[in-house]
Amino acid sequence: MNLPVSSEWIVTATRQYIAERAKTHPEIAAFVETLDALPLYVDSGGGVALRSDGELIGFLWEEPQSITVEMNPHLRFLAIVTGSEDYGELACLAPVRGADDRDCPLCDGSGRVPGLEESGINVKNVICYCGGTGWLPRNVPNPPQE
Ligand SMILES: [Zn+2]
Repeated sequence: MNLPVSSEWIVTATRQYIAERAKTHPEIAAFVETLDALPLYVDSGGGVALRSDGELIGFLWEEPQSITVEMNPHLRFLAIVTGSEDYGELACLAPVRGADDRDCPLCDGSGRVPGLEESGINVKNVICYCGGTGWLPRNVPNPPQE
């Protein structure tokens, strides 16, 4: 990946991420210490982090042995989408929709999970399969059907 930031920036941002959570979420801080990478996308199960060499690393919170280079194109996409929103330094990594990309079938291109707002759920805490972009890259498969 062609990164707009130096490995030093990633190391510093990772340390800051750990420091910010050391008191409130010590288990997360300890895990990220082991991970030695900056989490870009996380959910309750795990996430994707940026290692100082620019590699995207996937992990599961409960399984330190799960830490490995993330190959899943969907998770890599989510990591870049959320990372570019959360860190101004990574903003230029934000994916740009190409001619081959398509509307997200789950939200029909709106970027919002349908039916949530209507039922009074705080949509800020729920990210659509597309990461809120409203579209999916060609190499990302459709969400599993229910
Ligand atoms: Zn969507």
